[in-house]
Amino acid sequence: MRWCTSCILPDTRPGIVMGADGICNACKNSGRKQKEINWDEREKAFRQLVEHVKLRTNRFDCLIPVSGGKDSTWQVVKCLEYGLRPLTVTWKTPVRTAIGQKNLDNLVRLGVDHVDWQVNPEVEKKFLLKAFEKYGATAIPMHMALFNIPLSIAVKFDIPLVVWGENSAFEYGGADEALMGFRLDSKWLSAHGVTHGTTAHDWIDSELSEKDLSSYFGPTDEELEERDIKAIFMGYYFKWDVETSLKVAKAHGFEIASSPRTGIYNYADLDDDFISIHHWMKWYKFGFTRSFDNLSLEIRNGRLTRYQALEILKERGEERPVSDIQKFCAFISVSEDRFFKAVERYRNLGIWYRDLDIWKIRDFLIPDWRW
Ligand SMILES: [Zn+2]
Repeated sequence: MRWCTSCILPDTRPGIVMGADGICNACKNSGRKQKEINWDEREKAFRQLVEHVKLRTNRFDCLIPVSGGKDSTWQVVKCLEYGLRPLTVTWKTPVRTAIGQKNLDNLVRLGVDHVDWQVNPEVEKKFLLKAFEKYGATAIPMHMALFNIPLSIAVKFDIPLVVWGENSAFEYGGADEALMGFRLDSKWLSAHGVTHGTTAHDWIDSELSEKDLSSYFGPTDEELEERDIKAIFMGYYFKWDVETSLKVAKAHGFEIASSPRTGIYNYADLDDDFISIHHWMKWYKFGFTRSFDNLSLEIRNGRLTRYQALEILKERGEERPVSDIQKFCAFISVSEDRFFKAVERYRNLGIWYRDLDIWKIRDFLIPDWRW
């Protein structure tokens, strides 16, 4: 395992490529963003896009997939600023938190129409269990739903523009330059959609029919092309920074939590009780946690030194989300014993080894870590 000497991410993280100089592509992209991108030009391009869609439609100008989080609040504020009339769409998690609901209500009050789309919980339970047992991944149904539902609605209501937030391929540094642009398409989804490259078709079996999985199917690239529907990333047109979007969101009524639910931010991952499990599984699979991502971003943005980040990590440890795991087990009707046995199957033996009875990661970032 190699660790970036600038931030604290390992090369086991999907999408991370470590340079010969010991610096990861996420850090390199971040520097490039500051220096090379002409944000005035990009803003102009967005303005042109706005003009194009407003000429094309008499109804909703754009569709914004929203969770109610700070980023989606910022997306809505931005689109309203440019005079767009948005339809906002949410994939409704079966375990929405109270603060998540509050922030979503606040977002709708900014002056937008809203669809809250919930998948049949019986279908979602089965799908979650299958995804967990097959890939050790609890977020496949969520990602498949939240990417496809808005696109399906855009086609249905002929909404010419779908406005996503940040392009994770760009922000965290992907290996494929072609995916770092403004467009979200099936190629992007397959690489960065967090569905292990699967689509709803791959999950049809004797327990889940094609009809059961209806919510998880989306339009093809050809359908979107034919209907002149563009799915773009706002982060391509406007400089994306957590502090900026947080500030704007707060000024528009967004509320933060009293403490972080997972990772180091008390303003992220707030709306869903299961997302913490998705992040925590990375500890077994790749040897890092949500805090590594968050702290690396803080280092890149110059708000923390690498030394300070390491001190915070030592304090936080592995961050097992005990109560969320209990809730998850109850939802998919498996015992915690079965859950942890399944988790153990995903421990990456390429990085983990057993020191007597204790599991440790070889060449870990922090030599005196409490295992
Ligand atoms: Zn780095």
